[in-house]
Amino acid sequence: MNSESQKRPEQISNPTPDLDAVIIGAGFSGLYMLHRLRDVLGLSARVFEAGEGVGGTWYWNRYPGARCDSESHYYCYSFSTELAEEWEWSSRYPEQPEILRYLEHVADRFKLRQDIQFSTRVVAATFEEKHDFWEVATDGGERFTARYLISAAGCLSSANVPDFKGLEDFKGDWYHTGSWPHEGVDFIGKRVGQIGTGSTGIQVAPKIAAQAKSLTIFQRTPNYSIPAHNSQYTNADRAELEANREEVRRRVQESPGGFPFSLIDRSALDVSDAERNSIYEESWNVTGGFSFLWATFNDILLNLDANKTAADFIRGKIRETVKDPEVAALLSPTDHPYGSKRPPIDTDYFETYNRDNVELVDVRENPIVEITPGGLRTASGEYELDVLVFATGFDAMTGSLLKIDIRGVAGQTLAEKWAGGPRTYLGLQIAGFPNLFTITGPGSPSVLVNMPVAIEQHVEWISDCIVHMREQGHQRIEANLDAENEWVDHVNEVADATLFKHANSWYLGANIPGKKRVFMPYAAGLIEYRSRCDEVAVNGYDGFALTGKGR
Ligand code: FAD
Repeated sequence: MNSESQKRPEQISNPTPDLDAVIIGAGFSGLYMLHRLRDVLGLSARVFEAGEGVGGTWYWNRYPGARCDSESHYYCYSFSTELAEEWEWSSRYPEQPEILRYLEHVADRFKLRQDIQFSTRVVAATFEEKHDFWEVATDGGERFTARYLISAAGCLSSANVPDFKGLEDFKGDWYHTGSWPHEGVDFIGKRVGQIGTGSTGIQVAPKIAAQAKSLTIFQRTPNYSIPAHNSQYTNADRAELEANREEVRRRVQESPGGFPFSLIDRSALDVSDAERNSIYEESWNVTGGFSFLWATFNDILLNLDANKTAADFIRGKIRETVKDPEVAALLSPTDHPYGSKRPPIDTDYFETYNRDNVELVDVRENPIVEITPGGLRTASGEYELDVLVFATGFDAMTGSLLKIDIRGVAGQTLAEKWAGGPRTYLGLQIAGFPNLFTITGPGSPSVLVNMPVAIEQHVEWISDCIVHMREQGHQRIEANLDAENEWVDHVNEVADATLFKHANSWYLGANIPGKKRVFMPYAAGLIEYRSRCDEVAVNGYDGFALTGKGR
């Protein structure tokens, strides 16, 4: 396999690639893709992973309080019954170390590590038109050729540290939650500043507050958050989950969000105020979590009036929970509908503001001017800080891909192609970039749904497509530009019919200065999406050009 590994592109003469596939990333996506290609299809594949271990999101996000928001019994793979049977989750929403252990177990169980090259970043990939394969370059100077290049680089894997003036002169320690030190951070006795109140900020704040001397939270956008109601699983819970495993799997597959909730076909506007309130109360007090959005009413994400009933309810709960009315008002979102940004769930987030050692600073009123050697200066004064925590999220969906110098047909770079925002066909392929597949790429449901379900669907579609190509003797697949244009228009039309565009969210790239505002995920849900992908495949990969001879 190393025969071509040190060659320059211009030297490539061997028409047979080193590998059938290169996979970028060893999180949920990359691990399953490797298993599928290698163990089911019998192909040669190698994963390159920038981290020192498997796990992706769960390798990098080690901040205190990091845990999943999808419940454990469906935030996992479903492709292997044996795997499901042998793994036991401790709780509804396990913490990061446990999810990482699960993914490590998957890697060991399926003997995946032998085909993963860790501590290796893919820095460039060039499509060799003469041979219909990709040449991939790593940060270690190695080069490999592969028929297929499969991005499993993650939607939330490119940490975003805002470009604050003065950060380089800060005398304390600073951390981004998405690349947290493995040895942990000791906050005892420290004056901590936290920037950001998205899903991560909401998880980490109660944990820091419990340790630190003081926690000052700098908030740009207040967020709606629903209590998680986390609990340890008892033996009885586990027995029940086991008995219902197939039923949960079926429900997850039949749900638009990849959740096993019973979907209720009723509008928030078709019930009396008392009935609506009691449904919200039940969800807030008992079930909690994502069910508030997905299993109360069917139009929260579609109708502003319906949404307002949910938003009003949550604002009421914030006022009930937070003792200081001024702080409660600052924490109450009014500038975007509930669910139009990634909906957080929490354990004691709003309660944290009742602590004496916690202060909230509204940086819309009082913008951050600079980081100083001793802390942080806003328009109204300086805050002395020993530690800064950036809970500022990610350059979502496109960040990790665009960090790689990807060159397709006629040398066009992906950055050029996506200068006006990402464009894909089905979120799976990009016109002008043959044989490149993107797992959970922009234009697919990805971050709007329970992701393992979306990931499994993509991995299986890609492997079926490769099988088809090999059976038909094709070695090149490329999305047609027309099909891509139609898909992008469709993604936009669907988003326009929802409330997603009413928020300045990372779904739109709004958190990254200079990033084109384009709504990136596909909002029609997994059932609609899966049926469209299946239809494309059944119709001989409609919208793709399959050409070339070979296997
Ligand atoms: P990732 O897990 O992001 O893995 C991508 C990997 O690619 C990374 O390890 C990265 O190092 C590697 N990589 C990137 N670029 C390169 C390169 N150039 N060269 C080599 N390696 C590279 N989703 C849910 O559905 N439910 C949840 O409850 C949920 N909770 C979350 C909580 C947090 C804190 C975060 C950050 C995300 C959460 N998500 C959740 C989304 C989560 O990202 C996905 O569920 C899932 O883990 C994505 O898996 P992945 O393999 O596609 O990507």
